[in-house]
Amino acid sequence: MNLEAVMKREAALLLPTYDRYRVLLRKGKGVYVYDASGRKYLDFLSGIGVNALGYGHPAITKVMARQLELLVHSSNLFFHEYQGELAERLTRLSGMDRAFFCNSGTEAWECALKLARAYARTRRNGSKPSWRVLAMDNSFHGRTFGSLATTGQAKYRDPFMPLMPGVEFVHYNDVDDLRKKFDSSVCAIGLEVVQGEGGIRLVDKQFLQTARTLANKFHALLIFDEIQSGLGRTGKMFAYQHYGISPDVVTIAKPLAAGLPLGAVLTKEAVSRSFHPGMHGTTFGGGPMACAVAIAFLQTLEREKLVEHAHKMGNYLREQLEALQDRHKAITDVRVLGLMVGVELNSGELAKTVVKKMMERGVIINRTHENVLRFLPPYVIGKAHVDEVIEKLDLVLAEEEGQINTRAQGKARRSIAS
Ligand code: PLP
Repeated sequence: MNLEAVMKREAALLLPTYDRYRVLLRKGKGVYVYDASGRKYLDFLSGIGVNALGYGHPAITKVMARQLELLVHSSNLFFHEYQGELAERLTRLSGMDRAFFCNSGTEAWECALKLARAYARTRRNGSKPSWRVLAMDNSFHGRTFGSLATTGQAKYRDPFMPLMPGVEFVHYNDVDDLRKKFDSSVCAIGLEVVQGEGGIRLVDKQFLQTARTLANKFHALLIFDEIQSGLGRTGKMFAYQHYGISPDVVTIAKPLAAGLPLGAVLTKEAVSRSFHPGMHGTTFGGGPMACAVAIAFLQTLEREKLVEHAHKMGNYLREQLEALQDRHKAITDVRVLGLMVGVELNSGELAKTVVKKMMERGVIINRTHENVLRFLPPYVIGKAHVDEVIEKLDLVLAEEEGQINTRAQGKARRSIAS
């Protein structure tokens, strides 16, 4: 079936939730993905940060094939060998004590919110439990109701009001605003250490430190959403490790099972005790296939030193982008932490055109927060891949700036003439 036929069928049958690129993907290998006509794309988005090992990594396909023969799904009524082992690895890497497995980022975030409310009740001491949640302007935590309620962007929230009550938004990185809104009625403060959908924005150390101090003071949970930034993406296993500040709860998902749906909540022993059997659960979450693959993913990161590699490649990409910024006025900011990269342009329309033209030239990136080009390449990229992307971006920006100048000159000529 060709692209037109697929589009026609989807348009008639699917809920109109996505505005897809007009590309029909068929297979992937390494850092490349191929469309139905065999056209090759260098994938610098990796399925929105999921395909961190690229496509068809042999360590992953091997485990998938083995597990396919053994057991794909078991439900959480029974034991299988992999949840415990995966929890052991993740808690060691994060400094947490316990894990809960689910199927997606938003589910992980919902679980974190439930933990916060449940934990607050265990500390009640006869008084009313604290229940307010502080979240950040411009944040993104997912599409389910709790996640939407804590997502600080009107376009995602407004169509679905009223949402979960008790959430207040703090200006990201505004320490005074944080202090003003934090009191003993707060049970949790949740934030992304690097805002992804918010335009690749990094938290300030002072803000994070203040959040930690206030959470301690008021016995509230500090929850970090590392769904996009976690598991090596930023050049450390978790973005909070760049700051030396630890949360009470951390959520992860995207690359965890190398393309299979798997999310997790990691937390401290004392917090975990506020849950007991029956309070939370999932049919699919943490199945044997997803968990076995996630173990292989973590082993591969370690064996191939891919987190260190992501750090190095991120630095190289930053240097190249900053050099590009010197040549192009349209680039107003470059924000990089490892391989989580945002290039802010001076217009949303331009960003849209650049993404389209890069795709025409065989490079996949996307646009987030209107005017920010987002790069989330697989960790396995090399310098030559970065060079190719930079060269193409340079050409596309030059072409667009040329057209903008020509249009401006045309306008100026027309106004002189009139
Ligand atoms: N939190 C963050 C920081 C995200 O970037 C995302 C997805 O982009 C989510 C939560 C939601 O994850 P999912 O789409 O897997 O539900």
